[in-house]
Amino acid sequence: MGVLRAKDIGLGVCPKCLKLNHMYNERQRCLRCHAMFSQRRPSSLKLTIAWTFTAIIFLIPANLLPMMTFNKIGSSEASTILEGINYFILQGMYPVAIIVFIASFIIPIAKIGGLIVLINSVRKGSKLTPKRRAQLFHIVEFLGPWSMLDVFVVALMVGVVNLSYVTSIEAGPGSTYFALMVIFTMFAAHSFDPRLIWDTQEND
Ligand SMILES: [Zn+2]
Repeated sequence: MGVLRAKDIGLGVCPKCLKLNHMYNERQRCLRCHAMFSQRRPSSLKLTIAWTFTAIIFLIPANLLPMMTFNKIGSSEASTILEGINYFILQGMYPVAIIVFIASFIIPIAKIGGLIVLINSVRKGSKLTPKRRAQLFHIVEFLGPWSMLDVFVVALMVGVVNLSYVTSIEAGPGSTYFALMVIFTMFAAHSFDPRLIWDTQEND
């Protein structure tokens, strides 16, 4: 049986005041609050692809440039995300190593991977059911701010660190790229119109 969508019977929801409108055009003014809106977010897929692509590009300097600089008496040592994790392990700081690994390595890659799966499923169809894809979208959205955990950990380390011979830890240029990469994945998830998941649905 086919699934009846509001779009099929000429209805659309105004995103500003949530009034259900009769749609005379794909894009029109809301009958109640007069805001311009479209039945589907315009260029949703293109914007999602563009932001995801930008995030992937920023992921490279985020991982290659120093994320943190460990200042020691008389010298300082810059380290990338992975070197930083290695450093925390060597210092026996396993919980910090695990948080940094999950927040700055696993989550961004899982998020970008999830976005690519969603983009592909809308463009080419997918073996995943729309329900699974919707769950994936919720996970991608949920992960959004959590990757910033890493930035907080670095900030926390900068504040509290007083370890053996390390006098201070500073955030390096990699952390700027990392923060921007996280913001771009959030833009990508926000640009994605989840209704596209259900639009491509074949009749069940
Ligand atoms: Zn309205």
